[in-house]
Amino acid sequence: MSSARPLTLALSKGRIFEETLPLLQAAGVQVTESPESSRKLILPTSDPGLRLIIVRATDVPTYVQYGAADLGIAGKDVLFEHAAQNPGGLYQPVDLDIARCKLCVAVREGFDYQAAVAQGSRLRVATKYVRATREHFARKGVYIDLIKLYGSMELAPLVGLADAIVDLVSTGGTLRANHLVPVEDIVDISSRLIVNQASLKTRADRLQPLIDAFAQASAA
Ligand code: ATP
Ligand code: MG
Repeated sequence: MSSARPLTLALSKGRIFEETLPLLQAAGVQVTESPESSRKLILPTSDPGLRLIIVRATDVPTYVQYGAADLGIAGKDVLFEHAAQNPGGLYQPVDLDIARCKLCVAVREGFDYQAAVAQGSRLRVATKYVRATREHFARKGVYIDLIKLYGSMELAPLVGLADAIVDLVSTGGTLRANHLVPVEDIVDISSRLIVNQASLKTRADRLQPLIDAFAQASAA
């Protein structure tokens, strides 16, 4: 009976959805509706045995961890922060090499970051990536006051909320538009396929071919 339930793949809309479509296509799966236009949160695919659910990027690991989705696609940034609260529980079999960017420290143009670090000044750092930021500055031996934000980090140095931000950067266009400059790379980011551990055991017959297809498509 349970084998009739379609596999559920959790995705966020935007770049991860867009960059996953070609991987699904390579696996022989078409998606005919877009979450942008349809507003549906459950999307069918051309494979009756596979459906998509559309959730916030930061919620993808939660849906997979609890088995509400059998698998999902999430950035390493999101996975690292999620793992801080939820150790274990998720298989991460494939780096899909999509949604690539870097986690960086950035400051306002004209702020001498290296001098501030060398002087041992306490830095105010605004970010939504709390764990990655704490670990980065702890490794450097730099004391920080961390200010947790949920978005629009670029604003913080411009209005005096913080000396620096830790954010994802791809082209740097958003930083430049706000007179910010990247001063330190923390880690390269891409998105991984994640799989619920129980699903992998009980539904391997359906899941493993899909995992293999994703691995092949992303390596191609
Ligand atoms: P929201 O925009 O809904 O607040 P979010 O910022 O987490 O949530 P997205 O902007 O869609 O969601 O980002 C999803 C994932 O894509 C991120 O977790 C990250 O791994 C990756 N990503 C974020 N920004 C970039 C970027 N500029 N270039 C490439 N990949 C990125
Ligand atoms: Mg975003």
